[in-house]
Amino acid sequence: MELHAGDRLTAKKKHPCGSFGWTVLKTGAEIRLKCEGCGRVVLLSPDEVKRMCKKTNGGEKDL
Ligand SMILES: [Zn+2]
Repeated sequence: MELHAGDRLTAKKKHPCGSFGWTVLKTGAEIRLKCEGCGRVVLLSPDEVKRMCKKTNGGEKDL
């Protein structure tokens, strides 16, 4: 899965605030994601993002 700043992701698990949506703020060795529900920013490795999320911009696709 290729990630770019501005991509939107859907998490497999709901965030405590109730939102499934995340926006990619920054990519690289660590991925910075912002929760669309509460605005919380987290740093994850690309592997963690792949396990946690699927990309949703451009339609529902299994990647
Ligand atoms: Zn949240």
